[in-house]
Amino acid sequence: MATQYIPPAWAFEFHGHQCPFMPLGYRMARLAMDKLGVEHEKDHGFFVFPELGEGHPQTCLMDGLQVATGATYGKVMIAKTFYGKLAAVFYHPAKGAVRFSLKPEFVDAMGKFPFFAFRKQGMEPSQIPAEARDEILNWVYEQADDFIFKVEDKPDFKFTPVKGSFNKAKCSACGEYVFERYLRTKDGQPICIPCSGY
Ligand SMILES: [Zn+2]
Ligand SMILES: [Zn+2]
Repeated sequence: MATQYIPPAWAFEFHGHQCPFMPLGYRMARLAMDKLGVEHEKDHGFFVFPELGEGHPQTCLMDGLQVATGATYGKVMIAKTFYGKLAAVFYHPAKGAVRFSLKPEFVDAMGKFPFFAFRKQGMEPSQIPAEARDEILNWVYEQADDFIFKVEDKPDFKFTPVKGSFNKAKCSACGEYVFERYLRTKDGQPICIPCSGY
């Protein structure tokens, strides 16, 4: 089945360009949410751990993951593992964890489209001719879920979030507020990390 989990127009606006990876992240996340039985997260109850790194273009996946799940960088509900892999683990403390990854056969098939020839010439996605962008997006939308994604239950997955605290103090050197877990002490006085010299 080719689930029609297609990002809303505002997601493309937020992301800035049309590429296949943001929509793939969106669809991956919606399928993971179906599997776990969770809704778009309003607060702080659902975590996403993308296995992406940096310095490779597929990181666009993460904007789709955030749009679909509500597990955003601003709420600190998403954190990269820097494994450099096209995968993510979705974790809800009450529902468990599931890992989705892009299948190599799918990645190889997608890589044959002109969109990637333009990318390899150094062209940014927004500069690529619209026909090439539409072509790859429509192709991705038509592919079956089980051709794109490998899905694995992760029954042993454990994660303990940092305990939230509103406690803060002023740095004795610069006078700016610092949240307590980041406070250091120098000569018995509270101090921020930059002022501490470390
Ligand atoms: Zn992108
Ligand atoms: Zn300071």
